[in-house]
Amino acid sequence: MKLKIITILVLLIVGLSIFVSGCTDSGDSRDNENTGQEAEMSETDEPILVAVSVVPQAEFVEKVGGDKVKTVVIIPPGADPHTYELSPKEVQEISKASMLVTVGVGMPFEEVWINKFETMNSGTLIVNCSKGLELRELEEHDHEEEEEGERDEESDEDHEELDPHIWTSPANAKIMVEDIYEGLVKLDPENEAYYAQNKDAYLEELDALDERIREKLEGSEGSNFLVYHPSWGYFAEDYGLNMISVEIEGKEPSAQDLAKLVDLAKEKNVKVIFVQSQFSTRSAEVLAQEIGGEVVAVDPIAKDYITNMDNVSDIFARNLV
Ligand SMILES: [Zn+2]
Repeated sequence: MKLKIITILVLLIVGLSIFVSGCTDSGDSRDNENTGQEAEMSETDEPILVAVSVVPQAEFVEKVGGDKVKTVVIIPPGADPHTYELSPKEVQEISKASMLVTVGVGMPFEEVWINKFETMNSGTLIVNCSKGLELRELEEHDHEEEEEGERDEESDEDHEELDPHIWTSPANAKIMVEDIYEGLVKLDPENEAYYAQNKDAYLEELDALDERIREKLEGSEGSNFLVYHPSWGYFAEDYGLNMISVEIEGKEPSAQDLAKLVDLAKEKNVKVIFVQSQFSTRSAEVLAQEIGGEVVAVDPIAKDYITNMDNVSDIFARNLV
């Protein structure tokens, strides 16, 4: 069915172009001149290709860059950002980027990309989005009776201590937007005024978002919440909440850890465990059953940042105790 439509379309286009070229025979030389000029213009007007690590960064780049940028996201929605591996086709596409926007902390694949761009000598501008941010440490968990030495040796590389989920705080998002703006101006100084105007408008939207979240969460300060994957640390810090992670250093909790979490949840009267689709929710469901609560999905890497953060804060406001 699809093939049939395509065939018809192709025939139509071929037919049309024969018809058009037949008509314009007389003005041939002038036409050629014009198309030549157009091709040149569209080449200089081509959008700047910007590769970003996670989806919300694509949103920030597009808000500042408008129609002068095109984004490609290294970690697609639905994938686990901490372990994702790219296909050769994705590698090829990203290799063409003029600017690489990194999270800058706790994302091992970013180092690989920075090295790749350096070896290619591509002149790609690297913009580190954690520049200017106050980074927080990922929650310390105590792994009783674990052979410390062995553990350190085996997971030295990916045992990151700083929290990479920087974008879940609108205040951080504002700084990320500034970082991106500076990068775009460096690459394309001619359009500085355009970028500045877009940036200022978006910063205002982010301020309004922050204010709405503060209103919604008023009175919730000091509340505890459970989350499977610890994505909401910066959000929690900004709004005076306390995040308790089910996943421990990227791993499913042990039976012992789960038992402890059950006690803790009961003690703090927590009834909801926030999960995200990128990670298995099995232990979150077990935990929910144990505490007579439920699992609620919130997405930390959705595309429409402001709408998503409004939704997320509504869900938090409804479920915090
Ligand atoms: Zn994460």
